[in-house]
Amino acid sequence: MDTRSHLAQADLAPLLATYVHLSGDRPLLETYRPYITGPWAFHEATPEMLKEALYDRLATLLDDLHAGRRHAARPDRATLHEIMNTCVGQPVPDEYLPLILHDIGVDETAPLDVSWRTPPERARLDRFKVLIIGAGESGLCAAIKLRQIGIGFVMVERNDHVGGTWYENDYPGCAVDTPNHFYQYSFEPNHDWSRYFSPAREIRAYLDRCADKYGIRPLIRFRTEVLALHWEDSSSVWSVRLRRSDGVIETLRVQAVISAVGHISIPSVPSLPGLDEYEGPRFHTSRWDHSVALNSKRVGMIGTGASGMQVGPSIIDEVASLSIFQRSAQWAIRNPLYFSEVKPGKKWALKNVPFYANWYRFQLFWASADGLHPKLRVDPGWTHHPLSLNAEHDAIRQSLVDHLTEQLEGDAELIRKAMPAYPPYGKRMLRDNHWYRMLKNPKTALVTESIERVTREGVRTADGVEHPLDVIVFATGFQASRLTWPMEITGRGSVTLRERWGEDDPRAYLGMTVPGFPNLFLMFGPNTNLAHGGSAIFHSECQTRYILLALRELIESGSDSLECRPDVHDEYNRRVDDAHAQMVWTHPRVSSWYRNSSGRVFSLSPWRLLDYWDMTRHFDPAQYRIERTSA
Ligand code: NAP
Repeated sequence: MDTRSHLAQADLAPLLATYVHLSGDRPLLETYRPYITGPWAFHEATPEMLKEALYDRLATLLDDLHAGRRHAARPDRATLHEIMNTCVGQPVPDEYLPLILHDIGVDETAPLDVSWRTPPERARLDRFKVLIIGAGESGLCAAIKLRQIGIGFVMVERNDHVGGTWYENDYPGCAVDTPNHFYQYSFEPNHDWSRYFSPAREIRAYLDRCADKYGIRPLIRFRTEVLALHWEDSSSVWSVRLRRSDGVIETLRVQAVISAVGHISIPSVPSLPGLDEYEGPRFHTSRWDHSVALNSKRVGMIGTGASGMQVGPSIIDEVASLSIFQRSAQWAIRNPLYFSEVKPGKKWALKNVPFYANWYRFQLFWASADGLHPKLRVDPGWTHHPLSLNAEHDAIRQSLVDHLTEQLEGDAELIRKAMPAYPPYGKRMLRDNHWYRMLKNPKTALVTESIERVTREGVRTADGVEHPLDVIVFATGFQASRLTWPMEITGRGSVTLRERWGEDDPRAYLGMTVPGFPNLFLMFGPNTNLAHGGSAIFHSECQTRYILLALRELIESGSDSLECRPDVHDEYNRRVDDAHAQMVWTHPRVSSWYRNSSGRVFSLSPWRLLDYWDMTRHFDPAQYRIERTSA
């Protein structure tokens, strides 16, 4: 294929952005602006003639640049801002410029990679060791960046492989539902994702490649589990008790700990009456038993969250019947690209056209995350509908209702059962991966009666109906509030993290640091989960940057411990709660695992990605008690 044919398979808005970026031809934006009506524009509306004209222009420009007949323009900030607005069909506030210019790689201000201000003495660095717990995407991110700056670490992983949640979850249909070209490290773009929402195995392979490319794998102690951490005040070290792969208990001493154990890794299986009497195989989605063949089996699936919604349509063809036990119906949004493969021309453009990948990432950032955030804020004067928050949110709700109704082809009973009773985005928005089509399948039974008990042969519901089942799948989620569990983490004054947090009220400053627990950093900690959209990997990069800044402060200042001030921590958590009070996640119709038993949202970040990026790009020593214990 020639350049032009490749370009014809790429996305129009980022191609336009790229062309104007490289050529400086700002007026051209006006020509295309009327057809780009939002960040998820699929350009059906753009006349063919205009599409063709853009491919021609860009192909010629790339040839000229390649041959040295022209030089790439260096657009000023105003032009870049105009490109952003046009690219997503919406005005992007000025405040986004620093983040986006940085991400696009045209930020002339300080790079965000952390480097030494005063390189420490070798001996000091050699004495400083960090423990990283967990080799999932966040632990790997921390390891890569620590290695780059030269801070030594020990990395342990309880599994025999890297990948964390992407390693543990390999149920049928498991795939990412954040656009993949944003769900990747910014410093390691993969231009070969097979799909826009790739299957879990591809993400596993990506993380595998990163572990190898950055030299992390040989540094990981696999099948090694941290049992306990104990802060020793007299020497300012964490004493770490771990179980090695051979079962032997070992003690390590390290100066700092990064816990990257994830937020949703401990399966939650409801203790249903009679469960132990059941004679067939049963397993949780994250512990899928591949030795159990499902073909021609009567399968029961309990739960209809993100995991269940991926499992159901993936197994429906092979099973004899699928009984779905639904406690609450979930919203599911359509995305025309959900099943699409990324075309070769688009992959080519990502690899070969300067800035195209960056502009595409920006488009996804806006479409799948911050562009949505204001729509999830409650308008106090809004009374139009009990399940919407404001006019824009109501438009989303209506389009979801329309989609559901259309997909269920007017089946009133099914529509009643499948219609959620909470405002959209109050829980994670799911992708309609043929879920509704599966509900229409004669093999599917959507059971909304509550489960009374499990019997030897299946499940009995409260209406007395017996549901004979050969296999039971628990798609019932995770024990999210038990962050860092089952590790026993004991900080200053012999207080454990569990005592500090109680049963289900984890709190931290920026989701990362906790008073009384010096030199301990949590990744994917309290109030850092994302539900308006966005990529957990984006957050991991923010957290890694902040942790590196903190460690740099500790090492360069010759100090031994760094502990978040209680007033800073408490004030931050007040702000988190105040922000949540304005958002969909505290709406009275929403009950979710994001909230604890007193209703507080402990899991989710209330912030836009921009806010969190801003809060974590500097480290303010005044917010910490920084001490030197050694002479
Ligand atoms: P989940 O969202 O917590 O869903 C659990 C489901 O089980 C819900 O439908 C819940 O009903 C139901 N349930 C829980 N306890 C029950 C009980 N005792 N009886 C009957 N039903 C019960 O869990 P998940 O689906 O595993 O997803 C967890 C998180 O993992 C997601 O939010 C997401 O962050 C992540 N995830 C991501 C992807 C992806 O990127 N593609 C895929 C899977 C998971 P209620 O709604 O009534 O509570």
